[in-house]
Amino acid sequence: MKISRPIRARIRPAAILNNYRQAKAHAPDAWAWAVVKADAYGHGQLRAVDALRSEADGFALLECENAVALREHGVRQPILLLEGIFGIHDAKQVVEHGLHSVVHCLEQIDMLAAQARTDRPLSVYLKLNTGMNRLGFTESALPTAWERLKRIPALNLTLMTHFAEADGERGVLWQLERFQAMAGEWHGPVSLGNSAAILRHPLAHGDWVRPGIMLYGASPFADQSAEEFGLQPAMVLESRIMGVQTVATGERIGYGGTYVAERPMRIGIVACGYADGYPRHAPTGTPIAVAGKLTRTVGRVSMDMLACDLNDIPDAGIGSPVTLWGPGEAGYVPADAVAAAAGTIAYELFCALAPRVPVTID
Ligand code: PLP
Repeated sequence: MKISRPIRARIRPAAILNNYRQAKAHAPDAWAWAVVKADAYGHGQLRAVDALRSEADGFALLECENAVALREHGVRQPILLLEGIFGIHDAKQVVEHGLHSVVHCLEQIDMLAAQARTDRPLSVYLKLNTGMNRLGFTESALPTAWERLKRIPALNLTLMTHFAEADGERGVLWQLERFQAMAGEWHGPVSLGNSAAILRHPLAHGDWVRPGIMLYGASPFADQSAEEFGLQPAMVLESRIMGVQTVATGERIGYGGTYVAERPMRIGIVACGYADGYPRHAPTGTPIAVAGKLTRTVGRVSMDMLACDLNDIPDAGIGSPVTLWGPGEAGYVPADAVAAAAGTIAYELFCALAPRVPVTID
């Protein structure tokens, strides 16, 4: 019999499809790029694409080679390079494979213009910097961009921007105003909303929205759960108890002895650590489910294991199922709750899932 380390990630394609439909339902007048960058936020690019293949209006990602891989995988929908091209080779691929490309600087426009052909329309997303101040043309740089774009003979142009605070107090209106001022007389297509704008700011959708995190069933907001938007978790991280310790009051648990037992305790050792992608910064008290009950982690997360409190779960022992996040065999722990406890966001948890964790598809 093959005995292997019990940690597993389960990916739920039906949830991804449900969540894409929720994005479409919230932005009924827009087309939606399914954002599958960063290996579909750790869920696997091809897994996410296959889940959405029959319905997605298009797929958005970063690397040209991954876009080409999708074409080779048989994807016929539009594919958008969210950061555009990184060199001439990419520009050639954009033309050859009919990819859509963001342009955020003059260099990108020039590289594309050099490859552009009269017989192949080139779809370009002109990125306006409306306040994120990472990528894109500012108001003063825009006239030159318009001039250079004229060098592309068959141009399909869309204007886009990216919101910096759609999930926060400042919202999107201030950026939307700048966008409108910069777009001037532009009446062509625009692409605006990320997940937070899709869910909370109906005026900030545009013709193409770009849902990312919501596809994977997490909330872009600290104050509203994914469930409230009808989103379903697309990733489950689960494992099992691999060891049990009974410790006396005053004993310390794990590296640095950061947790001191306030009473006699049963401690479960879970086969999951930061080398699996579990956040090392998750403090004592981070939610975790064992054998159908919600409990808490205790002490520091190690590379390959972490500890949890089994005092109220007397039946749990070696081999008991553990859910780190998602709706697992041991119970449901929202990834957003783990992320909040660890001072991060579910985006980071998903993206950090380590290659050593075996993945199964539900
Ligand atoms: N659009 C762009 C340009 C992005 O960089 C991202 C992700 O960071 C998204 C859309 C999707 O954002 P979210 O995952 O918050 O929906």
